[in-house]
Amino acid sequence: MNLFSKRQNTRSLSSLLLLCLLITGTFAQDGWWMTEPIRWVQTNLRQVDATLDARRLAEQLADMRANVVLMGMGGIVSYYPTSVQYHYPSPDLPAGRDMFGDVLRECHSRKIRVVGRYDLSKTRKDVFDAHPEWFFRQANGDPVIYNGLYSTCISGGYYREQAMKILAEGLEKYDVDGLFFNAFGNQARDYSGKNVGLCHCDVCKAKFRAAYHKEIPNEPDGDYRKFMFTSSREVAAEIGKLIRAKRPQAGYFNYIQEYTDGIMSESNTAVARPLPLWPYTASDNVNRARNSQPTKMAVDLNMQFVDFWWRFATVPRGEIALRSWQNIAHGGALTFEMNGTFDQQDRQALETSKPIFRWVAANEQYYVGQTSAARVLLLGAPAGSTREFGAESYRGLFRLLTEEHIPFVVSDNMDWVGKRDFVLVIAADWAPAELQKYAESGGRVLLVSAREPEFPVASVVKTIPEIRGYVRVRDHAAFPSLKDTDLLMLNGPFTELQDNGPALLTLVPPSMFGPPEFVHIDMKDTDTTAVIFKQLGKGTVAWIPWNLGAMYYRLSLSSHAGLFHDMLDRLKLPRQIKTNAHPLVEMSLMRQNGRTLLHLINLSGHSQTGYFTPVPMSNIQVQLTGTFKSAKTLRTPGNPAIKVNNGYAEFTIPLLRDYELVVLE
Ligand SMILES: [Zn+2]
Repeated sequence: MNLFSKRQNTRSLSSLLLLCLLITGTFAQDGWWMTEPIRWVQTNLRQVDATLDARRLAEQLADMRANVVLMGMGGIVSYYPTSVQYHYPSPDLPAGRDMFGDVLRECHSRKIRVVGRYDLSKTRKDVFDAHPEWFFRQANGDPVIYNGLYSTCISGGYYREQAMKILAEGLEKYDVDGLFFNAFGNQARDYSGKNVGLCHCDVCKAKFRAAYHKEIPNEPDGDYRKFMFTSSREVAAEIGKLIRAKRPQAGYFNYIQEYTDGIMSESNTAVARPLPLWPYTASDNVNRARNSQPTKMAVDLNMQFVDFWWRFATVPRGEIALRSWQNIAHGGALTFEMNGTFDQQDRQALETSKPIFRWVAANEQYYVGQTSAARVLLLGAPAGSTREFGAESYRGLFRLLTEEHIPFVVSDNMDWVGKRDFVLVIAADWAPAELQKYAESGGRVLLVSAREPEFPVASVVKTIPEIRGYVRVRDHAAFPSLKDTDLLMLNGPFTELQDNGPALLTLVPPSMFGPPEFVHIDMKDTDTTAVIFKQLGKGTVAWIPWNLGAMYYRLSLSSHAGLFHDMLDRLKLPRQIKTNAHPLVEMSLMRQNGRTLLHLINLSGHSQTGYFTPVPMSNIQVQLTGTFKSAKTLRTPGNPAIKVNNGYAEFTIPLLRDYELVVLE
C-alpha cells in the first residue's frame, strides 16, 4: 500500500501519518526485502540447467523453507525465449520452453519470491563482431576473451543501451521480485585470476581524457578509481530507474550501495588468500551494510564453494553454519549459494544449511525488521575507498570489541551524525572531520592509528613509518590489566605527539636484540607519550598513535587486549552487557518489533583453517542494561529467570550449543 495514495487530507490524519512516519523513521514505502523475513537461496545456474524441472526446483526450495530464490534469468544466456537483438537463450533451452517463466509461476504459487540474475559483463563473439566498440580493450587493443566470451565495457553501448533493452524485455514479461547483477562493471581480473589491466576502449580513453586531462594509466590511480566509480554508478542509476519504472515492487540488488535496495556481499574463500582467516566475515559484511545504509537490506551470500576452480567442493560445514548465524544476528538475510541446482555432487554445505533454514523459518517472526541496539560505533573504511584501507587495523578492533562483548555497529559513512546517539566512536585509519563536532557535543572518540585525524587533537611532531620497539607502562594504576607487564610490543608506524600531561605510556625505541649477550642492554626510555587523552568541548578524545588494531589482528597479544579494555574503562564507557561468556562467544544486541534480541554465536569450533562443531558452553551469565520482565531462549528452549539490579537485567543462559537467541520483553 502506498501511504500517499489515499487522499484523505484532514489535518489530524496528516499529523497522525507524520507521527507514524517519524516513528518508523522512513518516508518511503519499504519493499518486501525490508518488511518480510528473508531466507535467500542463490542458484548460479549453468546453461545446461535450462532443462530443469521447474516444479521440482520450487518444491526443493519450499522443502528447505527458502522464501527467495536468486536464479539465472539473462545476460550471458537467457533462460527464457528472447526477441532482443544480441541476447541469446541458453543453447540447452528446449524450443518453445520458457524455463524462467515456469520457475517464476511454480515459486510464486508457493509464496517464494524470485530475483532474476543478469550477467552483462560478457557476451558472444557475434556481438563483438557486430559492435566491437562496445567491448573492453586491453592496453594493446586486444579484447578480453574468456572461454569464448568477450568482456563488455561499462562505458560503452552494450551496458548503456543494449542492456537496457534486454532488461526492459525481462521486466515487461515477468513479474519478478527483483533483479541482481553479477560481475557489474569492469573486472580487472578474469576468473582464472589473470590480470587484464584497465580498459583502453575508445569511449574510456575519450571520457578519461576529458575528465582528467591525461591518458589512462597502467595501474589504477585515484583518478582512475574515481572514473570507474562514476562510470559504474551512471549505469547503476539507469538500471535502478528502469526497474522502478517497469516493476515498482521489484528490488534492485547489486554489490554496490548506490541506487540499490539491497547491498550484496559474499562470505567466500580463495585458496591463495593470505591467512589468518577472517571468521567474522558475515558479521562484518552485514553489520556494515545494515548500519551504513539502514534503509537497505544486507544480503551476504554464503558461498558454498572453496574457489573458482572447485565450484563443486564445499567449505567446511562449520563455516557454512557460522556464516548463517552471523547473517541473521546482525539483521541481514539468511542466505545460501550453490552452483547449479539442488542436485549437488558435494551435498555437505546444502545439508548443513537446510536445517538452519528450517529452524529460522519456524522462528521467523524474530528475523524481520531487526535494527541494532548497539551504542558503540566502529568506523569502517570510507565508502568508495579500496577494501585494503586499514583492513588489518579495523579487523583487530572488530575482534577486540567482539571478544569484549561490546555490541557495536560498523559504518563507512558519517550519515549517523545528529541521528543516532553513540556513547563511543572508534576510528582506525579514517577519522573524519565530523568527529570533532560529535566529540565537542559530549561524545567519546577513541583513535587507534598512527594516521593523523582530520580534526585537531594534538600537535604531531613526526610519524616514524616503521618502528620495532616497545611501549612502556609508566602508570600501572591506570592500566590494571597490564599488572604483569611493563612493556608492550610496538611494530609498525608510530606518531610522536606534543603532550604536556603526565605520560601513562611512553615510547621505547629499538635497541639491540642479538646476540643474546647483547639483548636490549642499550635499551633507553623516552618521555615520548604513546597515548593521549584530550578534552574536546564536552567530550573526550583518546588517541593511541600506533597500530594496536593491526598488531592484535595478526598476533592477538593479551597485553594489547588488556590495554584496549583499560582504555574503555578510562573513557568511562557504560557497558551494555556484562558477562562471563568466553571471548569466542559473539553477541549482538538488536531491537525488533518492540522487543530486545540478544544473539549469541559460539565460535569455539573455529581454529586456524578449521571450522568444527562448536564446544557447548553452559551457564553464561549476562547482565544487560534495561528493565526487562521476561526472557526466552529459542534454540535451546527455556525461560531464564530475570532479576533487575542497578539498571541491569540479570539472567543465566543454561546452554549455548551453536547459536542462541534470547528474546527480552
Ligand atoms: Zn572501456
